[in-house]
Amino acid sequence: MVTHQLPDEILTDYAAGNLPEAFNVVVASHASLCPPVKNRIDDLEDIGGAVLDSIDGIEMSSGSLEATLAKITGAAAMPSPKPQPSVDCSVLPAPLRKYVGGGLADVRWRSIGMGCKQSILASDSDASVRLLYIPAGSEMPDHGHHGMEMTLVLQGAFLDGSERFARGDVEVADEDTNHTPIADVGEDCICLAACAGGLKFNGLLPRIAQPFFRL
Ligand code: ZN
Repeated sequence: MVTHQLPDEILTDYAAGNLPEAFNVVVASHASLCPPVKNRIDDLEDIGGAVLDSIDGIEMSSGSLEATLAKITGAAAMPSPKPQPSVDCSVLPAPLRKYVGGGLADVRWRSIGMGCKQSILASDSDASVRLLYIPAGSEMPDHGHHGMEMTLVLQGAFLDGSERFARGDVEVADEDTNHTPIADVGEDCICLAACAGGLKFNGLLPRIAQPFFRL
């Protein structure tokens, strides 16, 4: 059962198409693992549609049709990820499998030291999204954030202070958060993490390694 769900504020931004792609992937994957969140997104999209339907008679500027068609064509070429119910019990939810090009066995992991691995799925000037593999019982380097960070658990669990995040749970951190998440014992932890603006590591070694791992 998912105990840490994304707040309405973020779901509304997702439904309105206001989030960078990196965060869309996390929201869609979270919703695939958590039916109440998927239902909430459906409701928010219905509300957005009703608001648009209630607006009529707006005069269009010249060229707006061409601009709209160009946007639609662009959107068709790169569809944004949509929440879908998981059809099996594999680790990667459906929206994520499209990014990886298959299942967990198809992930192209790169070592980042101490037994941890990552696979960067998408990255642009706004934000990046990556899979992280953290051995059971391992501690993440102590860090803060330059922008929002969203971490969805796909396998195992991690502890942050007094809170425990398991499969389907999402932790949201921001500029005010400083933390040292620890993978729970028992099972290696696999997370999907999106981050805007990068991380602020407090230790020297992680700071030296940071540019190499694009963290
Ligand atoms: Zn963090």
